[in-house]
Amino acid sequence: MTAITVLGSTNMDLVAYVSKAPRLGETVTGREFRTVPGGKGANQAVAAARLGASVAMVGAVGADAFGVRLRSALTAAGVDTCGLRTVEGASGTAHITVDDEGGNSIIVVPGANGLVTGLESGDEERIAASGTLLLQLEVPLSAVAAAARAARAHGVRTVLTPAPVQPLPPDLPDGVDLLVPNEHEAAALTGLTDPRQAAAALLDRFPEVVVTLGAAGALHAARGQEPYAVPAPRVRAVDTTAAGDTFAGALAVALGEGRPMREAMAWAAAAAALSVQRPGAQDAMPDRAEADAAFS
Ligand code: ATP
Repeated sequence: MTAITVLGSTNMDLVAYVSKAPRLGETVTGREFRTVPGGKGANQAVAAARLGASVAMVGAVGADAFGVRLRSALTAAGVDTCGLRTVEGASGTAHITVDDEGGNSIIVVPGANGLVTGLESGDEERIAASGTLLLQLEVPLSAVAAAARAARAHGVRTVLTPAPVQPLPPDLPDGVDLLVPNEHEAAALTGLTDPRQAAAALLDRFPEVVVTLGAAGALHAARGQEPYAVPAPRVRAVDTTAAGDTFAGALAVALGEGRPMREAMAWAAAAAALSVQRPGAQDAMPDRAEADAAFS
């Protein structure tokens, strides 16, 4: 079983469904309200655990009812939460409005995630005991950089999803083996809208890049190699929430099992395509048998 550590965010998504989102100063009546466990870190942890990896989560939840539920959602998916601290104050929340057109607006309040500023007791050992470290940018960059450094020191592969996109500290790329941006993040990091050009530019800072392209699949680039694209299965998407997290989690699992990059990307695309055909984020993620069946 491949071992993965995820350092990142856990958020409770608070989703209000409305016909039309309110303008500034306006009050509207919504149709439905749901609370859904999310956060990019937790989503990637659940994706990898469902697909058969042994996963440890490092991060923080608040000392509130959301924190209890966020932890139990991870535990239910088989994720080890010993590195998930409970801290004073509120859990991270994402306040999401979805209108009848499927358009959304989101406010993320980091809460406990903002207190994840570095590694704590036991975290370096967790990272050292895994084959892969998965990182995103929903916790402070100081923690992301510290985790990447620990992974480098122990020869652990580090995969970074640069979301939400923001300028990266100059020393961060040193510890990152594989960058997995979507096309918008790749463009924001480089100023180049063409994904092939953006991927090529990112190779100045990262040794290997996989740019996800939504329904168009993903693009691979590595120093000294010809870039290539891997298509996504053609499916009817009903909800693409967390498709990128499913892809990143699956890619880490496949690479951890020693599968070649092109095959790992195709398997991750099969897993992500399953997730977009079902509503929800963590709820929509496939298990190992489903992903293998879709791939063969
Ligand atoms: P999200 O923010 O929704 O989690 P993202 O913007 O980070 O996603 P995308 O590039 O949209 O990432 O999608 C990630 C992967 O999911 C794609 O590379 C692809 O394999 C798969 N995917 C996304 N949308 C579709 C779709 N409509 N049909 C098939 N596969 C899809």
